[in-house]
Amino acid sequence: MSERDEFYEILRDPVSYGRKMKGQGRRIVGYFCSYTPEEIIYAAGAHPFRIFAGGENIHFAEAHFQSYCCSLVRGALEGALAGNLDFLDGVVFPHTCDSIQRLSDIWRMNVKGPFHVDVVLPVKLDTESARAYMIDVLKKFRRDLGAHLCIEITDDRLNNAFDIFNSIRVSLKRLYELKTENPGIIRGSDLYAIVKASMMMDRDHLKKALPAVIEELEKKKENAKLYAGKRIVLAGGVCNHPDIYRIIEESGGAVVWDDFCTGSRYFEESIKKNADPIAAIAGRYINRPVCPAKHAGIFARGENLLKIIKEKDAHGVVFFLLKFCDPHAFDYPYMKEFLDKEGIPSMMIEVEDQLPSEGQLRTRFETFVDML
Ligand code: SF4
Ligand code: SF4
Repeated sequence: MSERDEFYEILRDPVSYGRKMKGQGRRIVGYFCSYTPEEIIYAAGAHPFRIFAGGENIHFAEAHFQSYCCSLVRGALEGALAGNLDFLDGVVFPHTCDSIQRLSDIWRMNVKGPFHVDVVLPVKLDTESARAYMIDVLKKFRRDLGAHLCIEITDDRLNNAFDIFNSIRVSLKRLYELKTENPGIIRGSDLYAIVKASMMMDRDHLKKALPAVIEELEKKKENAKLYAGKRIVLAGGVCNHPDIYRIIEESGGAVVWDDFCTGSRYFEESIKKNADPIAAIAGRYINRPVCPAKHAGIFARGENLLKIIKEKDAHGVVFFLLKFCDPHAFDYPYMKEFLDKEGIPSMMIEVEDQLPSEGQLRTRFETFVDML
């Protein structure tokens, strides 16, 4: 089995992967959203496992959530109520969008599990008081998690975790850069699988596995033909649809970067070690590009998207929005206006659990790519 098959295997069946790790005696802590400090979980001797919707039809979760909640929270709750997440030793909910906050409340009351922690991070991230508050919240999380798992989370353990996670971030970023340098050397769906599986995979193993993929692509790049298609940036929250990359590629484009929390926002910004490891974690969240559930200036997201487009020499943007995801839907009009002012073409697709029909999507992408 090649390294890449391993990533696909985890995406195909994350539950079996989690259960296998549990069977090996690991403690596994489920988490939502890229604002969960995975390093603290790892430093507590546990494995951080990001929870996504499992793609099942919604039966159990229907009794708790309105049908106009995003498919990520409804699907995740469905998996938990169906007993698919029985391998978790605890669950962590960061304070982000309203849907995740309500999911936390419903989960606490309805899903049996050893522990449940809310990490109430500030919403506004661009003030010194927000930084001080965030440090206090992260310190509390360190204490609470240590108490739940009966372990002292020392500075040494945290600094070791920073080395592992920073190395993973640097590798994932290099893979994205290689794709940008020549989009033809790796399929977009392969890169999607690698980044998404990275949020669930054994991190010690992942740290060693990623350099092999980089080496393979560096070699491939040497003899690859220059890419002649259109260069596209995807923007949105969570992407659960690898087919989108294939359809864009078959329409004459390639995704050269993204602004997804299942993409570049997961690996952007390394932790800069300093005397206070918790302040170092807070520093990363404050410096990292924000998602719309956080605030770092009125135009921070638009400016970041423009920076990506310029740096990656992109021709256009596809906004990929999950239906009923209010934070991204609210941001979309101003983000589009930002691009319009700069003369950067964009299109928007809204999806729920399933993509619209492939024929319909292909027609839309082909028209968009022709226009670029
Ligand atoms: S879009 Fe923001 S709030 Fe939503 S899951 Fe991603 S990082 Fe978290
Ligand atoms: S940010 Fe959007 S997609 Fe993510 S959990 Fe919240 S509502 Fe759902």
